[in-house]
Amino acid sequence: MGGIHLHPHDILDEGPAAILERVGKMNSVQLLLPEMNTIFERNPYPSGVLPHNPVRGVVQGTGTFHLRLDTRELSPRLYQTIDPSVEQGADSLARLLEALEDAPYSVVPWVNLLNGSFEGDLEASRVVDFSGRTVQHWLCPNGPYVVDMWTNVLAAASRQYGCKTFLLDRLRFPDWAGERVNPNGLFSCFCPNCVSGMARLGIDTGALKAELCSITSLLGEKKFDEAFLRLSGSAVIQSWVRFKQSSVSSFIERLVASLRSRDPSIVCWLDLWPPCYAWILGQDYTRLRELAPALKHFPYHKLGGGADVQGLIDSLAAEPEDRERAFQAFLKLFGMNYPLSYEAFRRDGFPLRFVADENRKARALSKPGTRIFSGVQMWNLHPDELTLALGEALASDADDVLYYCYGWADEDLFDAVGAMFGGKRR
Ligand SMILES: [Zn+2]
Repeated sequence: MGGIHLHPHDILDEGPAAILERVGKMNSVQLLLPEMNTIFERNPYPSGVLPHNPVRGVVQGTGTFHLRLDTRELSPRLYQTIDPSVEQGADSLARLLEALEDAPYSVVPWVNLLNGSFEGDLEASRVVDFSGRTVQHWLCPNGPYVVDMWTNVLAAASRQYGCKTFLLDRLRFPDWAGERVNPNGLFSCFCPNCVSGMARLGIDTGALKAELCSITSLLGEKKFDEAFLRLSGSAVIQSWVRFKQSSVSSFIERLVASLRSRDPSIVCWLDLWPPCYAWILGQDYTRLRELAPALKHFPYHKLGGGADVQGLIDSLAAEPEDRERAFQAFLKLFGMNYPLSYEAFRRDGFPLRFVADENRKARALSKPGTRIFSGVQMWNLHPDELTLALGEALASDADDVLYYCYGWADEDLFDAVGAMFGGKRR
């Protein structure tokens, strides 16, 4: 059975009945994944309007917390900003759960761990890039309070709402996207915790910063091949990538252990990047696979696997020929052997087989028995394109699909999924 992501505004603005009617039309969805805390994402992304929201055309996420819990009381040293709607009495998760009662759905709240509007001792918790600048709205997995904060918040959420399984997302270092494209976000973290952690492992952080500086200069000079070669080949960069991966794995290991000691019935699922990109953001499937019975990744081919590839390429170069060279170097860095021009990518995305390719890699990197969900893009595309991508995902090595997302999807896309499943529940 598949699942679908919901945002708080879907539940509050449309009401659970409208949601269940549309989701019911899909004939194949049994899991609902309501978001506990938002990121700084435009809904829908990157343009357009919410097609069936009766209240608002566009919602800009502000990184706030949407459950009726006192995050500051639960974790005074580091806590997430409560959304103003909660202070006015809204409780999207409670509304959804109440409406479901005996309906045949499982609810898995979806939580963004390291990206959002946080308060408290941010000096100790923030992500710092190689040039010493703060990467806004990101927490470092090596920060001192992050595990305690999420242990307290998730254990309290489980007690209050009765949910036992959570989908953990944003468990990584920043990429280049955000409110504005910033390639330097990728070149982090150099907070005091990371710098001392790298020093303990014998990584020369001075040499690392110098290497990242020269890569940035090469990108500025539009020497994309050389820059990306250094990013994948240099020894100090490889040590740094291993440090990033070990930092994220250790963070999730500590969080899962700490939650289990609080309540052994709590289960964590992981939302990861597709294997082609995961390594550079600090996600090591082979270590993370020990911690969760299920994982989701998002090989939605139309938008380049969830990454803002177009935003990055356009930020690196203005001229069409330069953009083409940057795109070809990008494909090489991430091991994508697709004969694809940048123009064709902008028009059609990655080829459909990207979905099967990334699911094959995710399966090979996972433990036997791990339930793998393939993320399926459900907005900004024609129903025929959705049907093709869904068919590819269902035929791949993944076990099932998670749709992203309810609020952004046009009416005819719900019907298209329903037609795929022939009017019967899978
Ligand atoms: Zn750090």
